[in-house]
Amino acid sequence: MQTSCFIDGTFVPARSGLTFAVHNPATDAVIARVADGDASDARAAIDAASRAFSGWKNMAAIERAKPLRRLAELMLRDVERLADLCSQECGKPLAEARVEVAYAASFLDWYAEEGKRVYGETIPASDPGKRLLVLRQPSGVAAAITPWNFPIAMVTRKMGPALAAGCTQVVKPAEQTPLSALAIAELSVEAGLPTGVFNVITGLDAPAITDTFFDGLTVRHVSFTGSTEVGRILLAKSAANVVRVSLELGGHAPFIVFNDADLEKAVVGAMASKFRNAGQTCVCANRFLVQRGVHDEFVKRLTAAVAALKVGDGRAPGTQVGPLVDDAGVRKAEAHVADALAHGAQVTTGGTRVTVPGGTHRFIAPTVLSGVTPAMLCFREETFGPIAPVCAFDAESDALAIANGTPYGLAAYLFTADGARIMRMAEALQYGIVGVNDALPATAQAPFGGVKHSGLGREGGHHGIEEYLDLKYVSWRIS
Ligand code: ADP
Repeated sequence: MQTSCFIDGTFVPARSGLTFAVHNPATDAVIARVADGDASDARAAIDAASRAFSGWKNMAAIERAKPLRRLAELMLRDVERLADLCSQECGKPLAEARVEVAYAASFLDWYAEEGKRVYGETIPASDPGKRLLVLRQPSGVAAAITPWNFPIAMVTRKMGPALAAGCTQVVKPAEQTPLSALAIAELSVEAGLPTGVFNVITGLDAPAITDTFFDGLTVRHVSFTGSTEVGRILLAKSAANVVRVSLELGGHAPFIVFNDADLEKAVVGAMASKFRNAGQTCVCANRFLVQRGVHDEFVKRLTAAVAALKVGDGRAPGTQVGPLVDDAGVRKAEAHVADALAHGAQVTTGGTRVTVPGGTHRFIAPTVLSGVTPAMLCFREETFGPIAPVCAFDAESDALAIANGTPYGLAAYLFTADGARIMRMAEALQYGIVGVNDALPATAQAPFGGVKHSGLGREGGHHGIEEYLDLKYVSWRIS
């Protein structure tokens, strides 16, 4: 297991010599001590990425593709080891961690190919003596700041497009989950990635490390996935040197079920969307809006399915819901339940903590709340926990107004059999992603990202690589 920063192709301790402990949220066991890098380590990584840039960008795209594809293959070869590390760091069930490894590898594989299709343009000129060309060039050193809830996939979702475009990269993983990023770095050496192209700085002082991304002209793009609060800070910092930023921030997803929906599929979708990673995903259903005619039946079926979920250590066989990542997450989930109950909602299952032998106090019973209203805390804020609040609605326009009545706009879901309604709703929902009878829309080849307070820019698809490319217009007088 690598525990040092990865700079210029080598694992090195922090210059300060300091380390910090990484804990398993299920048991509080120390998994490893990891280099506590600071701004000086980050600058060394930026310098390494800068030195590597010209060699990497001038390499043919088909050559750049090879180590990226190889890295994807190595990740799949080592799926069990990576999944176990991921589960230890963030608590998610092993079965989910395996899916995450495959999802993470898909970004490398897909962008290895997409990098070959970074085409330019020619534009017909008004002046017959001119030729107008548009080049698309890698913008320079890219930096990435990643969260703990997908410790592997959030790294490769930024690494794939950046490196395929010809940028080099410095990644600062979340302090809760640095080991997964370091494991990717280790495999990148085996994959043959040239030194300096990919670097990882681990450390506790996120502001100090990430300030280096904005304090000069070397880093030209910062991609961040995390909270809206931190996203705002980074956007403000990007102004000084006009650094491009992509921000994938908080969500507050509505999950709308109409009377004509296939209820069975809606419940299966609700389970997949809400309880994956114990509800700690930015696209997870946060607000269930269910039309009056099927409300009671939906709550009944959802309650039965939720009550059957197995809570435990993510590494224990059969676990479906692991612990929350930290105490703040537990407090927030409990506050949302308490507020809902105080204002008249009912718990149909869950609502308490679960005691797991040998485990921490961070296991929350998967919970369904009925009788929820839009005024309650759980309908105003992102919960990021295994709590499913259900609110009944009558008209399509009511559901739409509640769904859009938030500053967030990442993912929305609707379950219905009415084609015209699907189109009306898909167009009217103020969200970057709409899942129609589909609770798991994220995939490497499609653009993922939000509107309003949920972010700027897109990851995935041919759109995602644009974030790492600068357009250059060449006006060429030939006669
Ligand atoms: P969460 O609330 O999900 O932990 P955060 O937005 O706090 O999300 O964290 C996401 C990433 O941003 C992590 O890598 C974290 O270290 C980093 N981070 C946290 N605070 C700051 C900050 N003030 N400046 C830069 N990065 C930060």
